[in-house]
Amino acid sequence: MGRVVWCGIAGILAMMLSSSAVLAEELTETVLIYEAEDALCEGNVHTDSQLEGYSGNGYVTGFSAEGDVCTFYVSVDADGFYDLNFVTASMGGYKENYVIVDGESLGTVSVEEESFTDSILQRDYLTAGTHEVSYSEYWGWVYLDRLEVTPSEEIDSSIYQVSATLVNENATDNAKRLMSYLADNYGSSILSGQYSEDGQYGKEFTVVYRETGKYPAILGLDFIEYSPSRAENGSTSNATQYAIQFWENGGIVTFCWHWNAPAKYLTGEWYNGFYVEGTNIDLAAIMNGEDEEGYQLLLDDIAAIAEQLLILQDAGVPVLWRPLHEASGGWFWWGASGAEAYKQLYILLYDQLTNVYGLNNLIWLWNGQDANWYPGDEYVDIIGEDIYPGEHVYTSQVDTYLRAVNYTSPAKMVVLSENGCVFDPDLAVRDGAMWGFWCTWGSEFVAKSMSIYAYNDQYTESEMLIKAYESDVVITLDELPDLTAYPIRDN
Ligand code: CA
Repeated sequence: MGRVVWCGIAGILAMMLSSSAVLAEELTETVLIYEAEDALCEGNVHTDSQLEGYSGNGYVTGFSAEGDVCTFYVSVDADGFYDLNFVTASMGGYKENYVIVDGESLGTVSVEEESFTDSILQRDYLTAGTHEVSYSEYWGWVYLDRLEVTPSEEIDSSIYQVSATLVNENATDNAKRLMSYLADNYGSSILSGQYSEDGQYGKEFTVVYRETGKYPAILGLDFIEYSPSRAENGSTSNATQYAIQFWENGGIVTFCWHWNAPAKYLTGEWYNGFYVEGTNIDLAAIMNGEDEEGYQLLLDDIAAIAEQLLILQDAGVPVLWRPLHEASGGWFWWGASGAEAYKQLYILLYDQLTNVYGLNNLIWLWNGQDANWYPGDEYVDIIGEDIYPGEHVYTSQVDTYLRAVNYTSPAKMVVLSENGCVFDPDLAVRDGAMWGFWCTWGSEFVAKSMSIYAYNDQYTESEMLIKAYESDVVITLDELPDLTAYPIRDN
């Protein structure tokens, strides 16, 4: 059981921090402190005291396998939002571990520093009473000193007042209309979205429609098969045509691009050429001029995608364009050479598509997922986060939402650009996690198999999907206005 230590201006029992610097700042607010060495430890988790800087009598370590968990029993006397600060030190480099509250996964917290430092999960809603808060092994390799529980600050509602002005000053009217619509609704409504590689009448849209009686407002597509190193192997795609069809049916389209690396760099099966493991491409060498041929090969690939985007522009289709996604994760080649090379490539892509190919129908959705990978406000219209929290996890992911809001100031619109589970819209409203939209990934995340058009409730149960699509705050295809006539905002 956790030992509770109160500090603050209200009812004070004791304060037992070895680090006194923390004290002064926190005297104005109520903090609950639970030492990890007094908490319930399971699996390989055990107490230690070698690393200096801990509070209480030590810390716990040994998070190395599934089932390695440290559980705190947190008691609060009022319903409300609380920040959970797991004071931890990394055993070397960036580490992420799970936080589970009352059996429900809330996401992960991360630590990079090798001395004890704050690692905060923001805005967990707790009712008055006692709650089980577990820190559970994901990557492991940390020292956990204590949990501090602090009432959360109110969300500043100005984060929802985002600009509708696009970074490309030559943006088409339809792109401006779409951004105006998204900005007008941001903070009060959430658009539904779904990836469906065969378009509106493909498998994923069909099963969502059968399940809920509604179509998503946003169709997610992928330029993957237009990558030259896939086309050369016989890949084909109708994604561009599906996008035009959906736009003409009143919908909104978003595109990602699993960029299959140029054939020269493929080391395994050609179709795995967007993964780090599938290539030997060295993006840093290309971007710093050591591999001039590689630079030209990338330009050739960009030309192939520009050709598709130009078809969309000619058809009047604005695109929520999400290139070079999930870069900081490091599993795609465009993220494998670090933040600087990635940012250079992102800016090269922006410059090529905007200034060389004259693509003005793009709303630039940046999805680097780390503040250090942010290329600059002049290249980003919307910020996207991708979250796959597990199965039947309907939390709003407010901590990730607020982190993304804070990548830049004034805040940009933040969307859930890919997800496994659909979150509960009621929780999003309660928590203030007003994602501009969500866009569930395809295949098993909604459908049983490739061939059978049946809903798969492995990730989101049918009841929750229906609740989401029927929610008053969620916008579906039938609720979209005529986006070709929507008033353009001038701010
Ligand atoms: Ca401790």
